[in-house]
This record gives sequence, C-alpha cells and structure tokens, in this order.
Amino acid sequence: MEKSTIEAEKKYPLWPAFIHSKCPRCRRGPMFGNKMYGFHGQTMLKTCNHCGLTYEIETGYFYVAMLLSYAMNVAEMATVAVALSVLSGSNNPWLYCGVILLFAFILSPFNFRYSRVILLYWLTPGLHYHPELSEDNPEGQQAQ
Ligand SMILES: [Zn+2]
Repeated sequence: MEKSTIEAEKKYPLWPAFIHSKCPRCRRGPMFGNKMYGFHGQTMLKTCNHCGLTYEIETGYFYVAMLLSYAMNVAEMATVAVALSVLSGSNNPWLYCGVILLFAFILSPFNFRYSRVILLYWLTPGLHYHPELSEDNPEGQQAQ
C-alpha cells in the first residue's frame, strides 16, 4: 500500500464511515439526507456530494436491499424471541407476538438504512474504497 493510501485509511476508517452511512467509495459524502429516526421518513441521496458516485447503480438496485432487510428482520426477531424466553420464561404467545412486532416496528428504519449501506459496502461487485477520492478536491470533481 502506498503511504497516502495508509494515511487516508487512518483518516477515514471503514467502521465510522459505515456507522455514519457515508459513501462507500470516498467515505466522506453522506448517503442519506436526514436522520434515521424522524417523522418524515428517510431520504436517500441520488449521488455522493463529495465524489459523485451514483448510489442506485442501476434501476431497481435496492430491491436486493429489501432481501437483506428481510434477513436482518428475521435475525432480530429470533434474537428477541430467545431473549424474551430466557428473561421472562413465559409461554404466552401474545406476549411474544406483541414484543416481536414492537421490535420489528422500532427497528424498521434501522433495517432500511443499514440494508442499503451493507449492500453498497460489501455486496456490490466493483465498488471499493478509493482513498484518492477522500481528499478535499478529488480527481474528476470540478473545483467550485
Ligand atoms: Zn463519495
């Protein structure tokens, strides 16, 4: 690895960029236009405002994120069910249904956002971090 690549990797590490849902290519521009939890829903930006990456690579690309969101939901529901069983020891199915649906509702904005972030970070072939695009004036972007 080149020295500048290592420096950029230190300056813009993977996990904080992932958690704050930054662009997977430059790790600087936000992917979403507003907060995860709010009354107006989440708005995903069309392009990265730092490096210009188009997030929806092709039409309907985020249908795959829907499947990912489903898998996350199933994992969360199973975790909640096991935790509830261990903590309460109850056999009442209504308790399980209520608590599981409550958690599914509460976690749906989280699943929406991170299914798309995971898709773009790890499941999109050919989309990788480009340290040179993390710089303040990346190549290909016009100075303003
Ligand atoms: Zn970017």
